[in-house]
Amino acid sequence: MKISGQSIIGFSQATNVGEPFGATNPRTGEAVGPSFFPSGSNDIDLAVRLADAAFAIYSRTSGREKGKFLRTIAAKIDAAVDALVERAELESALPKPRLIGETARTSGQLRLFADVVEEGSWVMARIDRADADRKPAPRPDLRSMLHPLGPVAIFGASNFPLAFSVAGGDTASALAAGNPVIVKAHPAHPGTSELVGHLLQESVRECGLPEGVFSLLFDSGNKVGIALVKHPLLKAVGFTGSRNGGRALMDVAAARLDPIPVFAEMSSTNPVFILPGALREKSDAIASGLHASFTIGAGQFCTKPGMVFLPEGASDESFIANLQKLVLESKQFNLLTAGIRSAYQSNIARRKAEKGVKLSAERPSSGNGSEIGVNPALFETDVQSFLQNPELAAEIFGPATLLVRHSNRAQLLQVASNLEGHLTATIHGTEDDLREFGDLLAILKRKAGRIVFNSFPTGVEVSHAMVHGGPYPATSDGRTTSVGSQAIFRFCRPVCYQGFPQTALPDELKDDNPLQIWRMVDGKMTREPVA
Ligand code: NAP
Repeated sequence: MKISGQSIIGFSQATNVGEPFGATNPRTGEAVGPSFFPSGSNDIDLAVRLADAAFAIYSRTSGREKGKFLRTIAAKIDAAVDALVERAELESALPKPRLIGETARTSGQLRLFADVVEEGSWVMARIDRADADRKPAPRPDLRSMLHPLGPVAIFGASNFPLAFSVAGGDTASALAAGNPVIVKAHPAHPGTSELVGHLLQESVRECGLPEGVFSLLFDSGNKVGIALVKHPLLKAVGFTGSRNGGRALMDVAAARLDPIPVFAEMSSTNPVFILPGALREKSDAIASGLHASFTIGAGQFCTKPGMVFLPEGASDESFIANLQKLVLESKQFNLLTAGIRSAYQSNIARRKAEKGVKLSAERPSSGNGSEIGVNPALFETDVQSFLQNPELAAEIFGPATLLVRHSNRAQLLQVASNLEGHLTATIHGTEDDLREFGDLLAILKRKAGRIVFNSFPTGVEVSHAMVHGGPYPATSDGRTTSVGSQAIFRFCRPVCYQGFPQTALPDELKDDNPLQIWRMVDGKMTREPVA
């Protein structure tokens, strides 16, 4: 597969405009060719217009056809695994086994959504039959189901060059719901993005779908993304990245004449609460599990545990000593981009200087000043310092975490109540701990999208029950998830049909239930036809 450096607009390739930019190998700092060209304003406009035109057909494509399309993309991704992994490794410094796993996750996600749309019940069909005899007024025939929104812009994430980029979870869920997608590639891995973009483009053609179902835009700055979100024909946005980036897109979308939804998954520090019984009984296992969790993927996961609350006392000392040893013996890590590396280094320097914070352990540098890798770091503080300084709750993207010691239950509950929204919250406890700290769980339900017990938050299963969301600022809309099959609900809205004849209704709402889907008929779930 050849990489051209050009945006993909429907079935065509864009022409070169603007300042070229390139990828960099984060392991060596060397440029990785070829040059990529930012999309021009005509490319952006054409991509959204084609998507809008394609919507008329694609939004009515059957679940079976959409399933075939998603499976075609998945098969092409699996077949191209070697080329994709080779390029992604160059652009991201992520290790090969991780990228092979991420490729499988990407095709697996596409197949999960294929299963969902082929089965068909996801549209939440509801039928309230007419009642001409109802007093004082007859009841009309009402039938509702979910319909797609229109062209959706997806912003690829830096930390998942495959599973949260061009054909990642956001794209898969938007396509599954029946929306054309325009992806803004992440500039850290443009070559990987283009390779996957061609596979999507081929899949659209092979499945006989309209040209505008997919486009891919390049940029090395914010211009293209902002113009895309402002485009009057765009109907929704999916984003994974920084709080600043997500917030900027939310504000642009809200300032439009017709504001559109932005589903942004932003930063999360993922609090971990180690309760006294667990600390006494499982200190060693928690220390090694925590170390693995905050350093996996070089700490560049949105679910990385970035703050850990534990009681002061005899058992916390051996726990901390254990963790310090693991950090000192850790390896160095290459971060995804030079920007992420310098942000990590300045965040670590800032944290070292924070009042009330102690550097508990840091892997030593080789000392020659030329290292490209970064060192894992462990910090300690106390509850008072933590509560007084909101900076300590902020995400440090990279292999670092903060231990916060408290001296009593009231302090623990206060700290939990003060948390902002997170993707996850974790409790390590015994059954006795859970009984004693029942109110902690009640607080955490209001703070996080997923609450983990006696495990660690990294490793987000792609499944039907998964929730990868959480109250702001973890996401822009805590009612949704960006991982798992429920992600499809972000990109659709309910439409109710009142009094329509059978011939004009979508199949999902016809009396005889030709698709044999689950529907709510007069308040009861059934797959039976309507009598
Ligand atoms: P980012 O800066 O948020 O960028 C993500 C994408 O959004 C890029 O395509 C970027 O385009 C675009 N973007 C960012 N700000 C924008 C704006 N104001 N207007 C329009 N588009 C905008 O994230 P990143 O480059 O992946 O990493 C930077 C930091 O984000 C990390 O250090 C980390 O703190 C955080 N991050 C968090 C997560 C998470 O899951 N919570 C994941 C990844 C990164 P351009 O780059 O072309 O401007």
